[in-house]
Amino acid sequence: MVYLKTDEEVELLRKANLLVGKTLAELAKAIQPGVTTRQLDTIADTFIRDNGAIPTFKGFPNPYGGPFPASICTSVNHQVVHGVPNDIPLKEGDIVSIDCGTQLDGYCGDSCYTFAVGEISEEVQTLLTVTKEALYKGIEQAVVGHRLGDISYAVQQHCETHGYGVVREFVGHGIGRDMHEDPQVPNYGKRGNGILLKNGLCIAIEPMITMGAKEIYMQDDHWSIITRDKKPAAHYEHSICVRKGKADILSSFEEIEKVLRENH
Ligand code: MG
Ligand code: MG
Repeated sequence: MVYLKTDEEVELLRKANLLVGKTLAELAKAIQPGVTTRQLDTIADTFIRDNGAIPTFKGFPNPYGGPFPASICTSVNHQVVHGVPNDIPLKEGDIVSIDCGTQLDGYCGDSCYTFAVGEISEEVQTLLTVTKEALYKGIEQAVVGHRLGDISYAVQQHCETHGYGVVREFVGHGIGRDMHEDPQVPNYGKRGNGILLKNGLCIAIEPMITMGAKEIYMQDDHWSIITRDKKPAAHYEHSICVRKGKADILSSFEEIEKVLRENH
């Protein structure tokens, strides 16, 4: 069931989501060749708990196997989503999508950013740029009076124009007391289709975009999703609230990008 949030609830969601942005900014400081995704997970877990929140991903149930063992998802290169942190050092030229969820005062934050490790190729940089642009094009459509399909269409259109694949099996979602609420927010669809967007609808929009074909499969760990053609994938996510005229973005990339600018 889709339910609309009160202004008070939106502020609680903002707090949880801003903490995700701050956590990802902490990780931005640490991402460099040689660091392992398990080390990043430890940083995130500590930071989230030090700020009075719970890492929502840890222990997240899995219909195919054991619960998620970490506090962030770290998807490297051809991993699309749900990558499990491990002891393999990141290397120059890799990309890593870090998806992070918090629960603070009963409300959930959920946001994702794809980071470059050292210098990456121009081709891969374009994938990151276009995927992030697609996220904001989707957000532009998340206003009162539009329909859900307007968001989906905008994301799909932007990515496919660049020849990229739009993953079908995983989608955005409503967000509130639960990390995953109704409605589902696909990254593909038709303009004018789907539910009417009303004031106070809070959703996570999260394009998962592949450089090659859109087909994916699950690795033996029953979590990590990778591209079939082993080409890289990018993933950016904001949690937003539908408002009249302009969506209110509850998560933030500001602190992340401040760190990235300072590191360059
Ligand atoms: Mg997420
Ligand atoms: Mg999400």
